[in-house]
Amino acid sequence: MSLLVVGTVAFDAIETPFGKTDKIIGGAATYASLAASYFTQDINLVSVVGDDFPQATIDQLNEHGIRTEGLQIKKGEKSFFWAGRYHNDMNTRDTLATELNVLMTFEPVIPESYQDCTFLMLGNLMPSIQMKVMQSLREHPKLIVMDTMNFWMETAMDDLMKAIAMVDVLTINDAEARQLSNEYSLVKAAQKILKMGPKYLIIKKGEHGALLFNKEQVFFAPALPLEDVFDPTGAGDTFAGGFIGYLARTKDVSFENMKRGIIFGSAMASFCVEKFGTERIINLDQEEVESRVQEFVDLVQFDITLV
Ligand code: AMP
Repeated sequence: MSLLVVGTVAFDAIETPFGKTDKIIGGAATYASLAASYFTQDINLVSVVGDDFPQATIDQLNEHGIRTEGLQIKKGEKSFFWAGRYHNDMNTRDTLATELNVLMTFEPVIPESYQDCTFLMLGNLMPSIQMKVMQSLREHPKLIVMDTMNFWMETAMDDLMKAIAMVDVLTINDAEARQLSNEYSLVKAAQKILKMGPKYLIIKKGEHGALLFNKEQVFFAPALPLEDVFDPTGAGDTFAGGFIGYLARTKDVSFENMKRGIIFGSAMASFCVEKFGTERIINLDQEEVESRVQEFVDLVQFDITLV
C-alpha cells in the first residue's frame, strides 16, 4: 500500500513582485511528495536529476519518509531547469526558460520495491513518460491522479491525450482547462474533458479556489484569503500532493472523500505560497496543518434556514 510520485525534481529561478531567486530547489515531484509526506510515510519517488543536484536535498526528502531509490542521478548532466516571472496579480506568470536537460533522455525505471503502488501521482512531466510509468506497473493502482500544464499541450498534445485517457483524476488550472477543451465556460470545459477519459477533473483556480467535477456532481473549495502571498510556484503540485496523500492515508476514493482531500490539498497549497520555493512546506508540523484545515472549515461554514 504505497504512494508513487513521479514528476520533475528541478532547479527553479523565480521572480515575483516581492523578490527574485537564483537557482532554488523546485520541481513538481518535489512539491507533491513533500506535501504528501504530511499524510503518509509510505512514499516512493521516481524522477531524474543531474549530478549538479545537491545530495543534502535528497537527504531532506528521505528524512520526510520519501524513498528515492527510483531517483536517477545522471553523471555529467544537468538537472531540469525552469524559470518563471509572476505578474503583479500573482495569478498569472510567464515561463522564461524550460531547459529539459536530463529529462530529454529520461527512461523511468520502477524499482521492484515500488511495485506495490496503490496510489499513483503523475506530477507534471512529459506525457510519454507519464504513460510509460503507468505501463510499467504490474497491477493497476487504486487511483491514478495526473497533473499537466500548457507546455505539454503545446509540445506533446497527442501523447497528452493518450495519457489523460488512462487516468482517474486530472488536475489542471482554469486557463489550461479552457485551452484543452476550447470552451470558455468551465462547466462545459469540464464535461468535454471528462469525455476524454478521466472519471474526475479538478480545476485549480489559484487564489479563487478549486473545483472538483465528475459527470454528475461538482464541488467547490475556496482558497484561504491570505495576508501575504509571496511565491505561488509549486502551489498546484503541493495541492495535488496533499490531495492524494490524504486519499492514500484514508484509503477512500469516493467523491465525498475527495471533497475532504481537496480541502487538505488547499491547506497545503496555502502554506506553499507563503514563502519562496519549498521553504514553507519543508518544516511544517501536524498541528499547523490541522489548524489550517480548521480555518478552511470556519471560512465556509454557515447556518441557513430555507422557508
Ligand atoms: P506549479 O507552480 O504547481 O505549476 O509548479 C511549478 C513547478 O513545476 C516548478 O518547480 C517547476 O520546476 C516545474 N515545472 C515547470 N515547467 C515544467 C514542465 N514543463 N514540466 C514539468 N515540470 C515543470
